[in-house]
Amino acid sequence: MSAFLTDKAAAMGRRIRGVRTVEPAPGRGPYDATVYQTTHLTGGAATGADPRTSAVNRFGQNWDVPNVFVCGSALFPQNSAYNPTGTVGAMAYWAAEAIRDRYARAPGPLLPA
Ligand SMILES: Cc1cc2nc3c(=O)[nH]c(=O)nc-3n(C[C@H](O)[C@H](O)[C@H](O)COP(=O)(O)OP(=O)(O)OC[C@H]3O[C@@H](n4cnc5c(N)ncnc54)[C@H](O)[C@@H]3O)c2cc1C
Repeated sequence: MSAFLTDKAAAMGRRIRGVRTVEPAPGRGPYDATVYQTTHLTGGAATGADPRTSAVNRFGQNWDVPNVFVCGSALFPQNSAYNPTGTVGAMAYWAAEAIRDRYARAPGPLLPA
């Protein structure tokens, strides 16, 4: 499966103009979680401007259930590749401020869906 996916990714990469590709190196042995892969897992409840393509609005508030706010790297719509913790913290402050200053005073959607 790794060889198949790597081939597909390499073919896509070759078709994107301006992208430098490296020699494809699919995993050949069993998956091993003890070797460093990544510790920057993100996504799952992506933030966004459009409820058709995101789970929560820019305050982390669920589009459908306004009393549910999501914090953490689950909000990332894609992996930023580099250290996520500063952004995770900033987004938590951003959501907390919106909850304190806006939602707590007038519970409901903070943005129109
Ligand atoms: C070894 C390692 C090194 C890293 N180094 C860096 C680095 O140098 N720089 C960097 O920016 N990032 C680093 N990261 C990544 C960073 O730690 C994570 O991206 C970040 O912690 C994610 O924050 P989070 O709030 O989304 O999730 P977490 O920090 O995992 O927080 C989730 C919290 O939810 C709690 N929880 C889970 N389930 C429940 C439940 N049912 N009820 C209540 N609570 C629950 C957990 O106990 C946990 O406290 C590293 C990660 C690891 C593992």
